[in-house]
Amino acid sequence: MAERLGVGHVSLTGNGTLALMLAIRALDLRGEIITTPFSFVATSHALRWAGLTPVFADIDPVSLNLDPAAAEAAITPRTGGLLPVHVYGRPCALALDELARARGLPLLYDAAHVFGARATPALAGRGDMAVLSFHATKVFHTFEGGAVVSPDAETKRRVDRLRNFGFASETEVVDVGINAKMNELQAAFGLLHLDRLDAAIAARAAIAAAYRAGLADVPGIACPTPSALATDNHGYFPIRVGVDHPGGRDGLYRRLREAGILARRYFHPLISDFPMYRDAPGAQPDNLPVARRVAAEILCLPIFPDMTAADRDRIIEVVRRPA
Ligand SMILES: *Cc1c(COP(=O)(O)O)cnc(C)c1O
Repeated sequence: MAERLGVGHVSLTGNGTLALMLAIRALDLRGEIITTPFSFVATSHALRWAGLTPVFADIDPVSLNLDPAAAEAAITPRTGGLLPVHVYGRPCALALDELARARGLPLLYDAAHVFGARATPALAGRGDMAVLSFHATKVFHTFEGGAVVSPDAETKRRVDRLRNFGFASETEVVDVGINAKMNELQAAFGLLHLDRLDAAIAARAAIAAAYRAGLADVPGIACPTPSALATDNHGYFPIRVGVDHPGGRDGLYRRLREAGILARRYFHPLISDFPMYRDAPGAQPDNLPVARRVAAEILCLPIFPDMTAADRDRIIEVVRRPA
């Protein structure tokens, strides 16, 4: 996996959430951690499980990733680190790395979406540490699974110990570890899946191209373009359904559901809107105007390698149908 990711030090885990928890522990994060509200809820949950406080900052309107200026404005003496996400596998701004370095703050990347993107080696190696998810909804998966990318052999050894109850040898326990190991069946499945990954990404790319061609001229709908929402591992096909679209995003979502098509509103609600985060620092709606707008417009159309052309065309037809 290290070879495939193009990085030196990888620990495989039972899932991506455990990978986040291990990395948070290995980095010894403290206090308030600045993060994005526009992600899967596990990003903030992992902070709370470690007794940390997520602090929400707004996202960039083009990349949909944590906005470096908003992150900088959220820094206080209590800030103990940054946890941004490469959403849909698209790189976060390098200004985040510069900000972390300038302020001496640990930087952990949630790279759950990056596997298979052209930028994967660069993304998996960014920050002080990074974590990936190999859940079945991701481009590469082991049913459930994940990975922690460490910057050096010593950190990897610590992660490996934490992953295995803190054991340093048969009789020595040196850390308050947990059971976060990837099991052999997951690993075996992953090895089989790796052989098929390039073909799977090519099949996804063809579906994305067909979606783009079929939906280019629908009023109120913006498809991912190479310069904006596109991800080159095609893990997601996120469209923006603007307020000028008849029925709006939720109307289209319902029409698709009635036709048996399970589009997903990744990521709506925002993490900061869930009850356990509403009172967290930065969660106030007026602090997150870009994230709120995107969460109200985003819709991820189904995309998976085995999708038939007939299914794909039916989805295009339902999206094109006037509300
Ligand atoms: C999938 C995902 C996770 C959690 O990974 P699991 O393997 O499901 O535990 C964390 N963060 C993001 C951004 C994800 O998409």
